[in-house]
Amino acid sequence: MPPCPQCGCDYAYPDGAMYVCPECSHEWNPEEAAATPSEGGVRDSNGNLLADGDSIILIKDLKLKGCSTVLKKGTKAKGIRLVDGDHEIDCRMNDMKVMLKADFVKKC
Ligand SMILES: [Zn+2]
Repeated sequence: MPPCPQCGCDYAYPDGAMYVCPECSHEWNPEEAAATPSEGGVRDSNGNLLADGDSIILIKDLKLKGCSTVLKKGTKAKGIRLVDGDHEIDCRMNDMKVMLKADFVKKC
């Protein structure tokens, strides 16, 4: 099973064509996720292109994998770094290193 793209939970299960995460209730289509190309750069939830060094803000609460910490909507991160992979944004929030999906942030 692929991990949840929102929280990284490994216990996602298939529900029809969708996968459902028991941790954060996120639902996603694995084919859609796989078909989303990274070409054209990483874009935030508003479709704005992100770049290394940008500042971003969370647009929804995010539960972190492996701990009970929840990053609150509105949490900001400066100096992001874009990386390859499922979670495109490497940054620090609340003094923690976190990997984020670009869909869950917007540029600020
Ligand atoms: Zn999840």
